[in-house]
Amino acid sequence: MVGCVVAMEQLGQGDQSLAAGWGAHCTIGTLPILDHGTEEQKRRWVTPLARGEVLGAFALTEPAGGSDNRSLETRVTFEDGHVVLDGRKVFISNAGTSISYGVVALARDPDGGFVSVIVPRGTPGYSQGNPYRKIGWHALDTREQVFDHVRLPLDHVVGGAGTGLRAFLSSLDAGRISFAALSLSLAQAALDEAIAYAQQRIQFGQPISRHQAIQFKLARMAAAVESARLLTYQAAWLYDQGKPYKKQAAIAKLVASETAVSCAAEAVQIHGGYGYILDSKVARLYLDSKILEIGEGTSEIQQLVIARQLGC
Ligand SMILES: Cc1cc2nc3c(=O)[nH]c(=O)nc-3n(C[C@H](O)[C@H](O)[C@H](O)COP(=O)(O)OP(=O)(O)OC[C@H]3O[C@@H](n4cnc5c(N)ncnc54)[C@H](O)[C@@H]3O)c2cc1C
Repeated sequence: MVGCVVAMEQLGQGDQSLAAGWGAHCTIGTLPILDHGTEEQKRRWVTPLARGEVLGAFALTEPAGGSDNRSLETRVTFEDGHVVLDGRKVFISNAGTSISYGVVALARDPDGGFVSVIVPRGTPGYSQGNPYRKIGWHALDTREQVFDHVRLPLDHVVGGAGTGLRAFLSSLDAGRISFAALSLSLAQAALDEAIAYAQQRIQFGQPISRHQAIQFKLARMAAAVESARLLTYQAAWLYDQGKPYKKQAAIAKLVASETAVSCAAEAVQIHGGYGYILDSKVARLYLDSKILEIGEGTSEIQQLVIARQLGC
């Protein structure tokens, strides 16, 4: 995970959409099968994912609920040695590109438990909507997924009936560390852009970086970025050591995403009117930042997770 964070820090400074797609691929798109699949499932599905031959995707969110994953309405039934999936998912990333193999979808079983089902593209009854037009992350493929009586052999069920939610939630905890790193990368890029601009933009006869008001903005951004970095690497290190990391992952995601949003806004402010023009890098960072407080659990949900870990 520390290696993933290092890579994510670099990728995300270059392009948030690419980094977000890669992060989802490595975490929620792959870990449910890697951590909970059979050896045969790992050979069949994880091998091409790990080689980068196909892109991984996970479908949890539905029209009726994203935060409240227990409200899922997508259903499976079991008949004649097959699993049959019916339902609709919204906002699903990575499932509709030319290298997407399909998606792992979370659904309710007849007993009210949860199952994860691997649904390959081309399976009859599985279709996708057009890509959403988003505020940012323009290069990330995000679409609706429709499952209309999708019938698959039982070996497409991950982790066995009833363990789907556990399989997904553990991947989501890991995904939060990757999302924290994605946020950190955006915050760092915003800080770098702001420093460079402040040193060359002359107003009132001197670079604006000589004005204390600008210096204080840059100092606060730097302090926030360093805090987010330490929290993110701490969570990644705990994960790699096999120690409990749920609380730290949520704290890192909460702090890093809020840092990204505030740093992007301050970077635009330091750029003045040029920051508001879409051609500027800080404008793109600004547009890409907001989703970081929403995806993989909103800031409110991170606070719920942290509070529960505190014993509330
Ligand atoms: C670009 C993009 C890519 C995405 N990719 C994926 C993907 O690949 N796979 C996937 O499954 N999902 C994906 N999502 C969905 C994303 O995870 C959800 O949008 C997110 O979890 C929030 O769910 P929601 O949109 O249903 O909002 P809601 O759950 O309806 O929340 C609305 C608001 O209410 C707040 N709220 C909800 N419950 C509580 C509570 N108990 N206490 C306090 N506040 C609360 C939320 O914090 C939020 O502010 C993606 C979304 C976007 C926009």
